[in-house]
Amino acid sequence: MSFSILVVDDAWDSREVITSILNTSEDYHLFLAENGQDAIRKLKTNNFDLVITDISMPVMDGLELLDHLAVEMPDLPVITFTGFGDLFGLKALERGAEDCIFKPFDARDFKLRVAKALKYSRLKKYHDLLEQKNEELRLLSITDQLTQLYNRRYLQEVLRREFTRAKRYRSRLSCMIVDIDHFKAVNDNLGHLQGDAVLRELSALIRNATREVDIPFRFGGEEFLVLLPETDRRGAEVVAERLRRAAEAMPVFRLGGELAEDVKVTISVGVAAFPDPRIRSEIDLVTQADEALYLAKRQGRNCVMVG
Ligand code: GH3
Ligand code: MG
Ligand code: MG
Repeated sequence: MSFSILVVDDAWDSREVITSILNTSEDYHLFLAENGQDAIRKLKTNNFDLVITDISMPVMDGLELLDHLAVEMPDLPVITFTGFGDLFGLKALERGAEDCIFKPFDARDFKLRVAKALKYSRLKKYHDLLEQKNEELRLLSITDQLTQLYNRRYLQEVLRREFTRAKRYRSRLSCMIVDIDHFKAVNDNLGHLQGDAVLRELSALIRNATREVDIPFRFGGEEFLVLLPETDRRGAEVVAERLRRAAEAMPVFRLGGELAEDVKVTISVGVAAFPDPRIRSEIDLVTQADEALYLAKRQGRNCVMVG
Protein backbone atom coordinates (compact mmCIF):
# COMPACT_ATOMS: atom_id res chain seq x y z
CA MET A 1 0.00 0.00 0.00
CA SER A 2 1.33 3.46 -0.82
CA PHE A 3 0.84 6.60 1.24
CA SER A 4 0.79 10.28 0.42
CA ILE A 5 2.47 12.38 3.07
CA LEU A 6 2.41 16.17 3.28
CA VAL A 7 5.49 17.68 4.94
CA VAL A 8 4.91 21.25 6.14
CA ASP A 9 7.83 23.47 7.12
CA ASP A 10 9.07 26.94 6.18
CA ALA A 11 12.74 25.90 6.52
CA TRP A 12 14.01 24.13 3.42
CA ASP A 13 16.81 22.40 5.34
CA SER A 14 14.51 20.50 7.69
CA ARG A 15 12.24 19.64 4.73
CA GLU A 16 15.38 18.18 3.14
CA VAL A 17 16.21 16.17 6.26
CA ILE A 18 12.70 14.73 6.50
CA THR A 19 12.63 13.96 2.79
CA SER A 20 15.93 12.12 2.99
CA ILE A 21 14.75 10.07 6.00
CA LEU A 22 11.40 9.07 4.46
CA ASN A 23 12.51 8.69 0.84
CA THR A 24 14.13 5.41 1.83
CA SER A 25 10.67 3.84 1.64
CA GLU A 26 9.11 3.34 -1.77
CA ASP A 27 5.68 3.34 -0.18
CA TYR A 28 5.87 7.00 0.75
CA HIS A 29 5.02 9.76 -1.70
CA LEU A 30 6.13 13.05 -0.26
CA PHE A 31 4.62 16.46 -0.93
CA LEU A 32 5.86 19.74 0.49
CA ALA A 33 4.15 22.84 1.84
CA GLU A 34 5.75 26.00 3.25
CA ASN A 35 3.26 26.90 5.98
CA GLY A 36 -0.21 26.09 7.30
CA GLN A 37 -1.98 28.09 4.64
CA ASP A 38 -0.04 26.47 1.82
CA ALA A 39 -0.82 23.07 3.42
CA ILE A 40 -4.57 23.77 3.50
CA ARG A 41 -4.46 24.68 -0.17
CA LYS A 42 -2.75 21.38 -0.99
CA LEU A 43 -5.05 19.38 1.27
CA LYS A 44 -8.02 20.67 -0.72
CA THR A 45 -6.81 19.19 -3.98
CA ASN A 46 -5.04 16.01 -2.84
CA ASN A 47 -5.83 13.08 -0.60
CA PHE A 48 -3.16 12.69 2.03
CA ASP A 49 -2.72 9.88 4.53
CA LEU A 50 -0.56 11.84 6.93
CA VAL A 51 0.57 15.40 7.62
CA ILE A 52 3.95 16.05 9.24
CA THR A 53 4.18 19.68 10.29
CA ASP A 54 6.54 22.06 12.01
CA ILE A 55 4.95 24.05 14.80
CA SER A 56 6.46 27.52 14.43
CA MET A 57 6.05 28.87 10.92
CA PRO A 58 5.14 32.25 9.43
CA VAL A 59 1.67 33.02 7.93
CA MET A 60 -0.04 30.09 9.66
CA ASP A 61 1.69 27.98 12.27
CA GLY A 62 1.32 24.28 13.07
CA LEU A 63 -1.10 24.78 15.96
CA GLU A 64 -3.47 26.83 13.80
CA LEU A 65 -3.21 24.16 11.13
CA LEU A 66 -4.15 21.55 13.75
CA ASP A 67 -7.21 23.57 14.75
CA HIS A 68 -8.29 23.79 11.14
CA LEU A 69 -7.80 20.05 10.53
CA ALA A 70 -9.59 19.06 13.73
CA VAL A 71 -12.74 20.56 12.19
CA GLU A 72 -12.27 19.95 8.48
CA MET A 73 -10.48 16.57 8.39
CA PRO A 74 -10.73 14.97 11.83
CA ASP A 75 -9.67 11.55 10.46
CA LEU A 76 -6.38 12.76 9.03
CA PRO A 77 -3.45 11.91 11.35
CA VAL A 78 -0.95 14.72 12.03
CA ILE A 79 2.57 14.45 13.44
CA THR A 80 4.12 17.69 14.64
CA PHE A 81 7.79 18.41 15.16
CA THR A 82 9.62 21.22 16.88
CA GLY A 83 13.03 22.43 17.89
CA PHE A 84 11.57 24.06 21.00
CA GLY A 85 10.75 22.53 24.37
CA ASP A 86 8.30 19.81 25.35
CA LEU A 87 5.63 22.40 26.19
CA PHE A 88 5.12 22.85 22.44
CA GLY A 89 4.78 19.11 22.00
CA LEU A 90 2.13 18.80 24.70
CA LYS A 91 0.21 21.73 23.23
CA ALA A 92 0.22 20.00 19.85
CA LEU A 93 -1.17 16.77 21.34
CA GLU A 94 -3.90 18.73 23.10
CA ARG A 95 -4.90 20.31 19.81
CA GLY A 96 -5.27 16.94 18.11
CA ALA A 97 -1.82 15.86 16.95
CA GLU A 98 -1.09 12.14 16.92
CA ASP A 99 2.50 12.59 18.00
CA CYS A 100 5.28 15.14 18.39
CA ILE A 101 8.91 14.59 17.37
CA PHE A 102 11.71 16.76 18.73
CA LYS A 103 14.67 18.04 16.77
CA PRO A 104 17.35 16.99 16.08
CA PHE A 105 15.73 14.03 14.37
CA ASP A 106 16.79 10.47 14.95
CA ALA A 107 16.12 8.78 11.59
CA ARG A 108 15.13 5.39 13.04
CA ASP A 109 12.82 6.91 15.60
CA PHE A 110 11.30 9.24 13.01
CA LYS A 111 10.50 6.38 10.60
CA LEU A 112 8.98 4.28 13.36
CA ARG A 113 6.63 7.06 14.46
CA VAL A 114 5.54 7.74 10.90
CA ALA A 115 4.83 4.04 10.39
CA LYS A 116 2.83 3.98 13.61
CA ALA A 117 0.69 6.94 12.59
CA LEU A 118 0.08 5.35 9.20
CA LYS A 119 -1.17 2.14 10.78
CA TYR A 120 -4.39 3.94 11.61
CA SER A 121 -4.58 5.43 8.16
CA ARG A 122 -4.11 1.99 6.61
CA LEU A 123 -6.84 0.45 8.75
CA LYS A 124 -9.20 3.22 7.75
CA LYS A 125 -8.34 2.72 4.07
CA TYR A 126 -9.13 -1.01 4.33
CA HIS A 127 -12.31 -0.24 6.18
CA ASP A 128 -13.48 2.27 3.54
CA LEU A 129 -12.58 -0.12 0.72
CA LEU A 130 -14.50 -2.92 2.40
CA GLU A 131 -17.55 -0.72 2.84
CA GLN A 132 -17.39 0.32 -0.80
CA LYS A 133 -17.09 -3.33 -1.94
CA ASN A 134 -19.98 -4.34 0.30
CA GLU A 135 -22.13 -1.62 -1.18
CA GLU A 136 -21.21 -2.73 -4.72
CA LEU A 137 -22.05 -6.33 -3.85
CA ARG A 138 -25.36 -5.36 -2.33
CA LEU A 139 -26.29 -3.34 -5.40
CA LEU A 140 -25.32 -6.29 -7.60
CA SER A 141 -27.45 -8.68 -5.54
CA ILE A 142 -30.60 -6.58 -5.96
CA THR A 143 -30.12 -5.61 -9.61
CA ASP A 144 -31.31 -7.44 -12.70
CA GLN A 145 -28.27 -7.80 -14.94
CA LEU A 146 -30.01 -7.40 -18.29
CA THR A 147 -32.14 -4.35 -17.56
CA GLN A 148 -30.37 -2.82 -14.55
CA LEU A 149 -33.76 -2.54 -12.86
CA TYR A 150 -34.22 -4.05 -9.40
CA ASN A 151 -34.70 -7.81 -9.43
CA ARG A 152 -37.49 -9.97 -8.13
CA ARG A 153 -35.64 -10.93 -4.96
CA TYR A 154 -35.46 -7.30 -3.93
CA LEU A 155 -39.14 -6.88 -4.78
CA GLN A 156 -40.09 -9.16 -1.90
CA GLU A 157 -38.18 -6.99 0.53
CA VAL A 158 -39.43 -3.65 -0.79
CA LEU A 159 -43.01 -4.80 -1.28
CA ARG A 160 -43.32 -5.90 2.34
CA ARG A 161 -41.73 -2.68 3.57
CA GLU A 162 -43.86 -0.36 1.41
CA PHE A 163 -47.09 -2.21 2.14
CA THR A 164 -46.45 -2.17 5.88
CA ARG A 165 -45.71 1.53 5.70
CA ALA A 166 -48.85 2.31 3.68
CA LYS A 167 -50.98 0.30 6.09
CA ARG A 168 -49.52 1.86 9.22
CA TYR A 169 -49.65 5.46 8.01
CA ARG A 170 -52.86 5.01 6.03
CA SER A 171 -51.10 6.22 2.91
CA ARG A 172 -51.59 5.07 -0.64
CA LEU A 173 -49.61 2.50 -2.58
CA SER A 174 -50.25 1.46 -6.15
CA CYS A 175 -48.81 -1.40 -8.11
CA MET A 176 -48.65 -1.91 -11.84
CA ILE A 177 -47.60 -4.99 -13.74
CA VAL A 178 -46.42 -4.45 -17.30
CA ASP A 179 -46.26 -7.31 -19.79
CA ILE A 180 -45.01 -7.02 -23.36
CA ASP A 181 -47.61 -8.18 -25.90
CA HIS A 182 -46.66 -11.12 -28.11
CA PHE A 183 -43.04 -10.88 -27.10
CA LYS A 184 -42.47 -14.34 -28.51
CA ALA A 185 -43.14 -12.84 -31.92
CA VAL A 186 -40.58 -10.07 -31.28
CA ASN A 187 -37.97 -12.72 -30.50
CA ASP A 188 -38.97 -14.78 -33.55
CA ASN A 189 -38.86 -11.76 -35.80
CA LEU A 190 -35.69 -10.04 -34.56
CA GLY A 191 -33.79 -12.77 -32.77
CA HIS A 192 -33.24 -13.31 -29.08
CA LEU A 193 -30.38 -10.79 -28.80
CA GLN A 194 -32.49 -8.04 -30.29
CA GLY A 195 -35.30 -9.15 -28.00
CA ASP A 196 -32.93 -8.50 -25.11
CA ALA A 197 -32.25 -5.01 -26.47
CA VAL A 198 -36.00 -4.34 -26.57
CA LEU A 199 -36.24 -5.38 -22.91
CA ARG A 200 -33.47 -2.92 -22.08
CA GLU A 201 -35.11 -0.11 -24.06
CA LEU A 202 -38.44 -0.69 -22.40
CA SER A 203 -36.78 -0.72 -18.99
CA ALA A 204 -35.29 2.70 -19.68
CA LEU A 205 -38.72 3.86 -20.79
CA ILE A 206 -40.28 2.64 -17.55
CA ARG A 207 -37.64 4.48 -15.55
CA ASN A 208 -38.25 7.69 -17.50
CA ALA A 209 -42.03 7.49 -17.45
CA THR A 210 -42.18 7.08 -13.67
CA ARG A 211 -41.10 9.36 -10.85
CA GLU A 212 -37.92 9.19 -8.80
CA VAL A 213 -39.82 7.74 -5.84
CA ASP A 214 -41.50 5.01 -7.92
CA ILE A 215 -39.67 1.68 -7.76
CA PRO A 216 -39.42 -0.43 -10.94
CA PHE A 217 -38.51 -4.13 -10.93
CA ARG A 218 -38.02 -6.79 -13.56
CA PHE A 219 -40.73 -9.18 -12.44
CA GLY A 220 -40.10 -12.02 -14.86
CA GLY A 221 -38.93 -12.59 -18.47
CA GLU A 222 -40.83 -9.80 -20.24
CA GLU A 223 -42.80 -8.60 -17.26
CA PHE A 224 -42.13 -5.59 -15.08
CA LEU A 225 -43.63 -4.44 -11.82
CA VAL A 226 -43.64 -0.85 -10.60
CA LEU A 227 -44.51 0.19 -7.05
CA LEU A 228 -45.93 3.71 -6.81
CA PRO A 229 -45.89 5.01 -3.24
CA GLU A 230 -48.30 7.83 -2.36
CA THR A 231 -50.18 7.24 -5.60
CA ASP A 232 -53.90 6.49 -5.80
CA ARG A 233 -55.82 4.45 -8.37
CA ARG A 234 -56.40 7.40 -10.67
CA GLY A 235 -52.76 8.54 -10.51
CA ALA A 236 -51.49 5.05 -11.23
CA GLU A 237 -53.82 4.73 -14.20
CA VAL A 238 -52.42 7.97 -15.64
CA VAL A 239 -48.84 6.70 -15.26
CA ALA A 240 -49.76 3.35 -16.82
CA GLU A 241 -51.50 4.99 -19.77
CA ARG A 242 -48.53 7.33 -20.36
CA LEU A 243 -46.20 4.33 -20.34
CA ARG A 244 -48.45 2.37 -22.71
CA ARG A 245 -48.39 5.22 -25.23
CA ALA A 246 -44.62 5.68 -24.89
CA ALA A 247 -44.02 1.96 -25.55
CA GLU A 248 -46.23 2.09 -28.63
CA ALA A 249 -44.22 5.03 -29.97
CA MET A 250 -40.85 3.41 -29.21
CA PRO A 251 -38.79 2.71 -32.32
CA VAL A 252 -37.50 -0.88 -32.67
CA PHE A 253 -34.23 -1.61 -34.45
CA ARG A 254 -32.85 -4.71 -36.10
CA LEU A 255 -29.39 -6.01 -35.21
CA GLY A 256 -27.88 -4.22 -38.22
CA GLY A 257 -29.22 -0.92 -36.91
CA GLU A 258 -32.06 -0.26 -39.36
CA LEU A 259 -35.55 0.56 -38.12
CA ALA A 260 -37.81 -2.52 -37.94
CA GLU A 261 -40.94 -0.84 -39.24
CA ASP A 262 -42.97 -4.03 -39.28
CA VAL A 263 -42.28 -4.73 -35.59
CA LYS A 264 -44.33 -2.92 -32.96
CA VAL A 265 -43.81 -3.20 -29.25
CA THR A 266 -46.97 -2.78 -27.25
CA ILE A 267 -47.63 -3.49 -23.61
CA SER A 268 -50.57 -4.46 -21.45
CA VAL A 269 -50.74 -3.08 -17.94
CA GLY A 270 -52.63 -4.22 -14.85
CA VAL A 271 -53.07 -1.74 -12.02
CA ALA A 272 -54.08 -2.24 -8.37
CA ALA A 273 -54.27 0.37 -5.65
CA PHE A 274 -54.21 0.31 -1.86
CA PRO A 275 -56.30 1.11 0.20
CA ASP A 276 -58.98 -1.18 -1.15
CA PRO A 277 -61.27 -3.41 0.96
CA ARG A 278 -60.18 -6.44 -1.10
CA ILE A 279 -56.48 -5.84 -0.43
CA ARG A 280 -55.32 -7.02 3.00
CA SER A 281 -51.75 -7.98 2.26
CA GLU A 282 -48.96 -7.21 -0.20
CA ILE A 283 -49.76 -10.51 -1.92
CA ASP A 284 -53.33 -9.30 -2.51
CA LEU A 285 -51.98 -6.12 -4.10
CA VAL A 286 -49.84 -8.01 -6.61
CA THR A 287 -52.54 -10.61 -7.26
CA GLN A 288 -55.07 -7.92 -8.05
CA ALA A 289 -52.66 -6.17 -10.46
CA ASP A 290 -51.99 -9.54 -12.09
CA GLU A 291 -55.71 -10.22 -12.50
CA ALA A 292 -56.15 -6.78 -14.06
CA LEU A 293 -53.31 -7.59 -16.45
CA TYR A 294 -55.03 -10.82 -17.41
CA LEU A 295 -58.17 -8.83 -18.21
CA ALA A 296 -56.12 -6.39 -20.31
CA LYS A 297 -54.79 -9.34 -22.35
CA ARG A 298 -58.37 -10.63 -22.73
CA GLN A 299 -59.48 -7.19 -23.91
CA GLY A 300 -57.14 -7.53 -26.87
CA ARG A 301 -53.83 -6.24 -25.41
CA ASN A 302 -52.18 -2.80 -25.74
CA CYS A 303 -54.37 -1.42 -22.97
CA VAL A 304 -54.49 -0.58 -19.27
CA MET A 305 -56.90 -2.25 -16.86
CA VAL A 306 -57.43 -1.15 -13.29
CA GLY A 307 -58.36 -3.75 -10.69
P1 GH3 B 1 -48.63 -12.22 -24.42
O1 GH3 B 1 -49.08 -11.09 -25.26
O2 GH3 B 1 -49.75 -13.13 -24.07
O3 GH3 B 1 -47.92 -11.76 -23.20
O4 GH3 B 1 -47.61 -13.05 -25.30
P2 GH3 B 1 -46.07 -13.27 -25.08
O5 GH3 B 1 -45.51 -13.92 -26.26
O6 GH3 B 1 -45.43 -12.01 -24.69
O7 GH3 B 1 -46.07 -14.15 -23.77
P3 GH3 B 1 -45.39 -15.49 -23.37
O8 GH3 B 1 -45.45 -15.47 -21.87
O9 GH3 B 1 -46.06 -16.65 -24.06
O10 GH3 B 1 -43.91 -15.40 -23.85
C1 GH3 B 1 -42.96 -14.62 -23.26
C2 GH3 B 1 -41.72 -14.65 -24.08
O11 GH3 B 1 -40.71 -13.82 -23.52
C3 GH3 B 1 -41.15 -16.03 -24.17
C4 GH3 B 1 -39.69 -15.88 -23.83
O12 GH3 B 1 -38.85 -16.48 -24.76
C5 GH3 B 1 -39.46 -14.40 -23.86
N1 GH3 B 1 -38.46 -14.00 -22.90
C6 GH3 B 1 -38.47 -14.15 -21.57
N2 GH3 B 1 -37.33 -13.68 -21.02
C7 GH3 B 1 -36.57 -13.20 -22.03
C8 GH3 B 1 -35.27 -12.58 -22.09
O13 GH3 B 1 -34.58 -12.37 -21.10
N3 GH3 B 1 -34.82 -12.21 -23.32
C9 GH3 B 1 -35.56 -12.42 -24.44
N4 GH3 B 1 -35.05 -12.04 -25.61
N5 GH3 B 1 -36.76 -13.01 -24.41
C10 GH3 B 1 -37.27 -13.39 -23.23
MG1 MG C 1 -45.51 -12.81 -19.73
MG1 MG D 1 -46.04 -11.08 -22.86
